[in-house]
Amino acid sequence: MTLHIPFDNSFAALPAGFHARLDPTPVKSPSLIAFNAPLAEQLGLTGGDTAELAQVFSGNTVPEGAEPLAQLYAGHQFGHYNPQLGDGRAILLGETLGRDGVRRDIQLKGSGRTPFSRSGDGRAWLGPVLREYIVSEAMAALGVPTTRALAAVRTGEQVYRETVLPGAVLTRVAKSHLRVGTFQVFSARQDLEALHRLFDYTVARHYPTAQTPADVLRQVIDAQARLVAQWMSFGFIHGVMNTDNCAISGETIDYGPCAFLDAYHPETVFSSIDRQGRYAYGAQADVIVWNMAQFATALVPLCADTEQTIEEFTQLVRGMPDLIRKAWLQQFGAKIGLAEPQTEDAKLIMDLLARMSANQADFTNTFRALGDGGARDQFTDPSAFDDWQITWTARLAGEANPDAIMAKANPVFIPRNHRIEQMITAAVDGDDSYFHHLHHVLSRPFDPQPDATALTHPPLPDEVVKATFCGT
Ligand code: AMP
Ligand code: MG
Repeated sequence: MTLHIPFDNSFAALPAGFHARLDPTPVKSPSLIAFNAPLAEQLGLTGGDTAELAQVFSGNTVPEGAEPLAQLYAGHQFGHYNPQLGDGRAILLGETLGRDGVRRDIQLKGSGRTPFSRSGDGRAWLGPVLREYIVSEAMAALGVPTTRALAAVRTGEQVYRETVLPGAVLTRVAKSHLRVGTFQVFSARQDLEALHRLFDYTVARHYPTAQTPADVLRQVIDAQARLVAQWMSFGFIHGVMNTDNCAISGETIDYGPCAFLDAYHPETVFSSIDRQGRYAYGAQADVIVWNMAQFATALVPLCADTEQTIEEFTQLVRGMPDLIRKAWLQQFGAKIGLAEPQTEDAKLIMDLLARMSANQADFTNTFRALGDGGARDQFTDPSAFDDWQITWTARLAGEANPDAIMAKANPVFIPRNHRIEQMITAAVDGDDSYFHHLHHVLSRPFDPQPDATALTHPPLPDEVVKATFCGT
């Protein structure tokens, strides 16, 4: 049976200034690495054998009903406004209305040059494609809002970076690819007609209860506050929190130089281009507020009374740190077994984190071992944990079932950076088995899987990955 994708496109119907219509650039000899059958089913896809999936998800065949296009957006990159970015190596095929009634984008990434490519080649190499596949699917399994991976295909072509590397295409699924930068581009150009159009589209697609720009701002701030608190609770570092990588839907998007903490330290940075630590683990809660201030700024021209609007939006943005603190407390409270963490519990959590940081304690393994007495072994000086444990045990008195709460908040498995690097090295050599193994184990991150214990180990000194490079 041939592949059928029940497209129901809405973005393509927006005015020409929103996008550039073009087909993906065909590749030499596509071969399928992975196809996410459960996600395909959720999207309403049917049929398709391996060869056909490789043709479609490499961009060689444009499926019936697709209206391929590259989206326009702008964005602040490391604090500096770039007035035009856009999909330089991505092409939206279209949207489907899934079985759950949710509209989702199906987008190829690495599918060739577009009018927004600037000096780029429009391609992706195998490494970042597999990294995004593994990490985005792991995030979904952890319960974090995220874009998903539908397929990964080798192109059979080479891409040229510092070295010659195998090319690949990722198919990404998202609630939408609207970003803060999508609003910024029209706002900065003072294209009010487009800005109003975008606002209406956003309300209809994501925030149907919103009446005003303030309502949308409030709901996006809320979603992003909860998202960043979730990232922090799993030790996730996004790595490039530019405003073009900040989704209006509240999903995690654009897995470039992202990574999970091994040993806990709030100043940890992985991205090789983030020399100042702007997007360090512990900076994310501040940066997201900064990003929301840029979003607020972009929304101002939608409102008639500028002064009053700025006043109202400023209050909303100023309220965000408190929302993040509350979400953080909820997440980290669960990590230490509390059903209803109270404001004063933040001190207890911060105290544990400070001790972990001073003792190179592994973030994931320490929290996971809290319940079974193994946590102290994670500390270079175990007595640092013992002191904390006394206060913690006293706090837990009267809690009904802390172990069950912790088992659901503290994963056994995260996609550790050194494992991802090893997986990529194997895949470059033509061996995809490690990719499939990682993906399989990470689909159940909270379940102990005795045959996969090796994936719980932090890196040995010679395995430590110090930097990940931008997903180009
Ligand atoms: P990113 O940092 O991956 O979010 O990308 C920032 C901008 O650079 C976006 O507009 C991308 O489309 C563009 N870009 C990144 N890599 C390439 C590439 N290889 N070819 C063309 N454009 C690219
Ligand atoms: Mg991006």
